[in-house]
Amino acid sequence: MMHGMRAGFSGWFIFALCASLLGCRSTPKTPSDGAEPPIAEAPPKGRKLTEVLTMTPGGRPIEVHRFIGANPRYRALIFFSIHGDERPAAELADAFGIWLEEHPESWAEREICFIPVMNPDGLASRTRVNGAGVDVNRNFPAENWQTQARGARYNPGPFASSEIETNALVRCIERLPPDWIVSIHAPLACVDWDGPGEALARAMSRANGLPARKVGYPTPGSFGSWAGVDRGIATVTLELDDRLEPEDLQRQLAGLEVAVTWDPQREAGARP
Ligand SMILES: [Zn+2]
Repeated sequence: MMHGMRAGFSGWFIFALCASLLGCRSTPKTPSDGAEPPIAEAPPKGRKLTEVLTMTPGGRPIEVHRFIGANPRYRALIFFSIHGDERPAAELADAFGIWLEEHPESWAEREICFIPVMNPDGLASRTRVNGAGVDVNRNFPAENWQTQARGARYNPGPFASSEIETNALVRCIERLPPDWIVSIHAPLACVDWDGPGEALARAMSRANGLPARKVGYPTPGSFGSWAGVDRGIATVTLELDDRLEPEDLQRQLAGLEVAVTWDPQREAGARP
């Protein structure tokens, strides 16, 4: 599932610059083969675009930071804090944003769509649910969405896609279709998956030390049900432990690096 990406502005700029330099200089040809001398070209750079997906009812922006490599072959979506009371996820989001800035080589052939806070009203009030009291992760228009819930913490909303946060993420995925998705939660301490996400989940598990396993209870209307099961996008749910210790932070960043540099074609080729 490769996306046709346009040549970046910087690439065209370098091409135009080199062409103009060649035109102005009398460049001596080598007598042996008559080829043009090699041109010292700066490595193409990636860029970062920040877009506001929507404003929440609480007046807070939901932002996506698009880290667009110079030669993107794949697009990945990595989002955090769809539940506002999962503190380790919010802490890891802060560290991951810095890590992306400092490691542009890791996404040179990727576009990474990074949403640090999917439920900012819930994060501000430290609640699982959003400002309307709805569990956004039970509100997706999945085939298994249902009105019944185990309790108020899992309130699925009056109907599927009733929430602004839900619609913002659905529209983002339709506009910028990802080849794989990782959503970060806590505190179940495992790497879960939906749809064709098992290989990525196991690779992340090897890097971050958390077991790859299914959580094992039904999650009607969850993001994984909608994106992974219904839409067939490889979807990994990273469940952190209930605390993110400093030494654990590096392991979790290593797991996310696997998600950034993932190559589904290489993975497919490695399998019999
Ligand atoms: Zn959660």
